[in-house]
Amino acid sequence: MPIKSRIRTIPHYPHQGIMFRDITTLLKDPVGLRLTIEKITNQYKEARIDTVVGIEARGFIIGTPVAFQLHTGFIPIRKKNKLPAKTAGRDYQLEYGSDRVEIHVDAIQQGNRVLLVDDLIATGGTAEAAVKLIEDMGGEVVACCFVIDLPDVGGRARLEKSGYEVFSLCEFE
Ligand code: 5GP
Repeated sequence: MPIKSRIRTIPHYPHQGIMFRDITTLLKDPVGLRLTIEKITNQYKEARIDTVVGIEARGFIIGTPVAFQLHTGFIPIRKKNKLPAKTAGRDYQLEYGSDRVEIHVDAIQQGNRVLLVDDLIATGGTAEAAVKLIEDMGGEVVACCFVIDLPDVGGRARLEKSGYEVFSLCEFE
């Protein structure tokens, strides 16, 4: 378990009862970082990916080296009011309240084959909003990649039920 064993768990962060899976310990490790990027890149090197989209903020850390290795560009999806040019957005529900993800309207070309990258999928709410946003912009989501899947929370099943390919490097209960 070269990836999973390098991820640290912080109990009760950011709230009581939450087991936060902390990838900073994976990223700081030269073998951990290399394996993480290589495993995702190897999975999609023949998939004719046009562009990699990463979700703020840890999706930027993973997504950019994946884009570099796949010889594509990188596009950020950010939380609301962070991007400087004209944006499109999608709202999504959180356990308490809602949030919004945004993308530059000129970032994706019609028909672009997109690889979506984030560090972790839990409910899948964030990824689903990002997928819809990419499709709103005319992109085709080839797959959604995560370092960590929390299968018991159901996000992976939710995306797969909607027909999306999901790839993850490890699972936590
Ligand atoms: P979801 O929308 O699937 O419920 O939550 C996924 C989003 O929340 C991701 O953008 C991810 O970065 C963040 N997230 C939720 N829980 C954790 C966690 O335990 N560790 C990390 N690294 N990110 C988390």
